[in-house]
Amino acid sequence: MAPRPPLMTLDDALAQLLSGVAPLQDSEVVDTLDADGRVLAQDVVSELHVPPQDNSSMDGYAVRTTDVPEAGVVLQVTQRIAAGSSGHPMSPLSAARIFTGAPIPPGADAVVMQEDCEVGNDCEGGVRLNAVPTAGQWIRRAGEDVARGSVVLRSGERLHPAALGLAASVGMAKLAVRRRPRVALFSTGDELVMPGQKAPQDMPPGAIYNSNRFFLVALLRRLGCEVTDMGIVPDQRDATVEALRNAAQSHDVILTSGGVSVGEEDHIKPAVQSLGSLDLWQIAIKPGKPFAHGRIGNAHFLGLPGNPVSSYVTFLVLVRPFLLKLQGVSNIAMKAVAARADFTWARADKRREFLRVRRNPQGGLDLFPNQSSGVLTSAVWADGMVDNPAGRTIAPGDVVQFVAFSEAMA
Ligand code: AMP
Ligand code: MG
Repeated sequence: MAPRPPLMTLDDALAQLLSGVAPLQDSEVVDTLDADGRVLAQDVVSELHVPPQDNSSMDGYAVRTTDVPEAGVVLQVTQRIAAGSSGHPMSPLSAARIFTGAPIPPGADAVVMQEDCEVGNDCEGGVRLNAVPTAGQWIRRAGEDVARGSVVLRSGERLHPAALGLAASVGMAKLAVRRRPRVALFSTGDELVMPGQKAPQDMPPGAIYNSNRFFLVALLRRLGCEVTDMGIVPDQRDATVEALRNAAQSHDVILTSGGVSVGEEDHIKPAVQSLGSLDLWQIAIKPGKPFAHGRIGNAHFLGLPGNPVSSYVTFLVLVRPFLLKLQGVSNIAMKAVAARADFTWARADKRREFLRVRRNPQGGLDLFPNQSSGVLTSAVWADGMVDNPAGRTIAPGDVVQFVAFSEAMA
């Protein structure tokens, strides 16, 4: 038997993988409305202040504080300013009826909220101010959100809903974003059957449904990729070579699942080797371990292990950062936070482990009882993973590193 290749650390594997990827240079212009999840290709610089001028943050009365030295002062209401209109300069001893979002008239330096004001018969036709205003109160300052000339969003940022709103607030109807990576996905394994192809009662012995395809397509799409599903790898060597060669011509990445274990009989490995280059890595992580990467022409080749949870976790820790770098994303680190383990993990492993856990209402983490690499239920039940260093056991109360799936997938 061939000697086992040495294990490499995840950090080394990731560094090596990322050093081989250059961000795609092409960009395109899309409607801001359609830019959620895309990666900005240019800084967004504001050409105006937001808000554009000082405005009221309350419904009430704009005044000059010098006119209201004490509570109970009555001022004549000389103008009415609604949002979308503008006022005129304040004459002495006057008040301006004003509404939220309306510009502060020249000369006014405070707004008294209407709850502190009285109008009516005993107010001499004016408004009585029952509170003494301080200068600046209930005024939103021009430029307090965004100053003219400032960079509001940076090239390399992935856009999310609030960022789209911010871009719109400085007048951007369209945004320059990086082109979506084109990814071809192959599943390998003669045991695989597509759901819908055969009913459960008609499945032959040894057959299983192809589940990896479904989460891989979804994960790829969440990361902004354009996915071509190439189905299950054909049974023949020549057909496999042909399919890979074609995929490499029109895709940036070829992603496969299964068939990367040591010594495994599979069409993919020799086919990639015949068309380009292939490295098979043994990474010291659990679930996971086997991972393949290489090149066919200009396309990157990435091969995930077949066990569903291994495939899932390996995607999150290696393929996700790879795809983010390919899109020019500047911040690709997986965010972990300290959290309290409310469980026991007695078996220290030689490999760094990603344990499927869920936050409980007490602020700690519970462990899914079956951590086997084939049990996809664990990844559905869990809302994240504990990133547990090699050789470490965990006792209740220990502080561990928690990676939320919402972070790891975004
Ligand atoms: P492999 O990495 O090809 O040796 O596969 C390891 C295990 O994962 C085997 O039990 C396979 O049946 C299973 N497996 C491989 N690919 C898939 C897939 N696409 N969906 C579900 N299970 C898979
Ligand atoms: Mg297989």
